[in-house]
Amino acid sequence: MASKVQTVTRAEAATTLTNEEILRYSRHLIMPEVGMDGQLKLKNAKVLLIGTGGLGAPLGLYLAAAGVGKLGLVDFDVVDFTNLQRQVTFGTSDVGKPKSQAAQARLSNLNPNIQVQAFETKLTSENALELFKDFDIIVDGTDNFPTRYLVNDACILLGKPNVYGSIFRFEGQVTVFGTPGGPCYRCLYPEPPPPGLVPSCAEGGVLGVLPGIVGSIQAMETIKLILGSGDSLAERLLLFDALGMKFREFKLRKNPACPICGDKRTIHKLIDYYEFCGVRGEEAPAPDLHVPEITPREFKARLDRGDELFVLDVREPHEYQICNLRGHLIPLGELPRRVHELDSSREIVTHCRSGKRSAEAVDFLRKAGFRKILNLKGGILAWSDEVDSSVPKY
Ligand SMILES: [Zn+2]
Repeated sequence: MASKVQTVTRAEAATTLTNEEILRYSRHLIMPEVGMDGQLKLKNAKVLLIGTGGLGAPLGLYLAAAGVGKLGLVDFDVVDFTNLQRQVTFGTSDVGKPKSQAAQARLSNLNPNIQVQAFETKLTSENALELFKDFDIIVDGTDNFPTRYLVNDACILLGKPNVYGSIFRFEGQVTVFGTPGGPCYRCLYPEPPPPGLVPSCAEGGVLGVLPGIVGSIQAMETIKLILGSGDSLAERLLLFDALGMKFREFKLRKNPACPICGDKRTIHKLIDYYEFCGVRGEEAPAPDLHVPEITPREFKARLDRGDELFVLDVREPHEYQICNLRGHLIPLGELPRRVHELDSSREIVTHCRSGKRSAEAVDFLRKAGFRKILNLKGGILAWSDEVDSSVPKY
């Protein structure tokens, strides 16, 4: 793999380190496995990070600190307050700033000897090949299936290694795809999961340290690829269970029938990955249920008037603990067997966090014969925005 990285021509390759660099990297230089040769390989390496979020944070920090000469950062998002729990590149003062720019500033400050390029754009089938072509290694730190397939296919088409990592709640996966003779993401996952089956971090939650660990392993694999040393995770899938604190690994093999890296390739160019994954963007709203709604302001006005409204909260108990509107709590999943707790003669207002689960609850209860039932539009988030900002959003 090291040969992949030495694509810079002799003329433009750095052949020396400054005295400042020698001091900065001294703990690398005194290891025979890195030494001056290895540090120059790092200096001449060009790594593109897809995503600067949870996985991108340790990746960017460690690769910059290690002296990877050129780092590209692709992210179209802005820093949100809820990111700070795990995206340790960013500080509180970065909230609201474009992630790629905030990360560029942080990494350039960490190591002014390297070039950090921010690409404030969404990775698409139109720009992926152009973005990837100037880099030796692509590191996938994304959180959604369309982008994972896109990163995979672009790497295979260009013959570049793809250092892959993913996380979900307490579990992580890491491997290296796209090495010569090795498997690709499609060899492992020929089909995307049905849309909506695997929740995002925003929906399912994630323990903040987990992306730190998984992203750090990706950073280590990236550095090993650059140095051309050690046993790469290529052809092995490393699984990490944080709660059990267990690492397991599976042998990965190239699938001869893989549509992009197999013997009879059928994919020769990038496709529409949202269509392939059956989603119209990650943010695709739940199918419209067209249930009767009440806005937070109307709801407040009716409560103030003293209307007898029964408030049904269909979130989970741990969400109720974060904040609540003093409603009667029946989690959506328990509604069918606890429906007897509700009085269909009373007027009911149902709510959840965003209005999505409660719409399903209203739909279910209407089918069960309830007629006087309304969905709180936008849920507790909208209530906090429009009526009572003392109710925390989460
Ligand atoms: Zn494949």
